[in-house]
Amino acid sequence: MKNIFSLLFGLGLLIAAPASAQAKVNIFACEPEWGALAKEVGGSNVDIYTATKATQDVHHMRAKPSLLAAMRKADLVFCSGAALESGWLPILTQKAGGPDVQPNTVGWLMASDHVPKLEVMEKADRSMGHVHPEGNPHVHLNPEYIPQIADFLADRLYQIDPDNAGTYTDNLESFKARWNTNLNQWKVQAARLKGTNVIVHHKNWAYLTDWADINVVESLEPKPGLPPTTSHLESLLQSVKKQKVSAILVAPFENDEAAKWLSEKAAIPILYLPYTVGGNANASTLEGMFSETFRMLSEAAS
Ligand SMILES: [Zn+2]
Repeated sequence: MKNIFSLLFGLGLLIAAPASAQAKVNIFACEPEWGALAKEVGGSNVDIYTATKATQDVHHMRAKPSLLAAMRKADLVFCSGAALESGWLPILTQKAGGPDVQPNTVGWLMASDHVPKLEVMEKADRSMGHVHPEGNPHVHLNPEYIPQIADFLADRLYQIDPDNAGTYTDNLESFKARWNTNLNQWKVQAARLKGTNVIVHHKNWAYLTDWADINVVESLEPKPGLPPTTSHLESLLQSVKKQKVSAILVAPFENDEAAKWLSEKAAIPILYLPYTVGGNANASTLEGMFSETFRMLSEAAS
């Protein structure tokens, strides 16, 4: 009897093993930064589809067929949240998402749900522009949030794919060890940037400037999400003449016409920061993106 049982047990394992060994966790990442973090923690046990590129404005995407196809396969949806993707992500999950990747499930991970948010409003109306009433969603630019969000990601992967929990823990720990070494360097650079004045195009740098104690003196957008106007730029020009401003920060997907106009009139350099992974040639990883950002900011401030 014992032999028969062990034989059956052995056969059972043989039958079960190939399926579970091959199945990778399919991760649908809305933005490049979350795709990159998923790669760090998931390693070779995950397949990642990143829905947007650094050159695309994630505020304004369409729920196109390629995104629906990717959503259909997803085991985990990993995005910024706080309504950043409200114009397209709900359509994708409603039309093509399985029951395990809907809001409030294990397969639904919104980074901004797990870190303190800036600019949370008690009430917002259209007169304020295209604001994010749930708080500023651009949370990936606080370097201390990244390892915190990595912890939540690992926790979801443990639940979705418990067989590989050990690998996820190893990946997480080595990522965090490297991150902390870099973080010390970025803190040194940020300390020198403290009090520097910058102008932004949109309020998508808030977590970076807040963390590094950089002052955002003006936005080129008269209200969040509204394109710069001549009258707004004229008044900006008058006010920036009275203070020293180190740079105008522009993301890869932003129209830089207004920045160029002000840069010329007020003699303030434009900094085309990477903003996310893939935002420039040196920003191919999350670490590269932050290192490049602090390098460029330091150069502009000195
Ligand atoms: Zn925004």
